[in-house]
Amino acid sequence: MESPALYLVDVRIKTFKKWPFTDKDKCNIRNMAEAGFYSVATGEDDADAAKCFLCGKELDGWEAHDDPWDEHKSHAAKCAFVQLGKKENELLLSEMLSVIKQYMVNEVKRVAEARKEKIDERAKLVRRQCMTRK
Ligand SMILES: [Zn+2]
Repeated sequence: MESPALYLVDVRIKTFKKWPFTDKDKCNIRNMAEAGFYSVATGEDDADAAKCFLCGKELDGWEAHDDPWDEHKSHAAKCAFVQLGKKENELLLSEMLSVIKQYMVNEVKRVAEARKEKIDERAKLVRRQCMTRK
């Protein structure tokens, strides 16, 4: 399965379907996406759940006056995107490429981890079947 190109600000913007704040608020969709966040909301209860595309930090409980960059900084100071501290259109090409590369490395790790879990599950099942056969 191809994963969405969440390293692009426009792709992140499109993930915000039921964001509770308006464009007039500091904590608006554009500012969220520019600070690296995309929505991971699944319904009304977690409408403001957002995650960083690069470090994976998930935050909720946002308030209208929150500055997404400040929140990202204070909760994930080590994030490579926070350390660059730039909007997508301010990034140098080399910086953008390094962001994309890191995103892809993270994705590969995530997929590998999920696959390993599946294999472990299967191994457990087979072991159980062998035990009951004795
Ligand atoms: Zn981050």
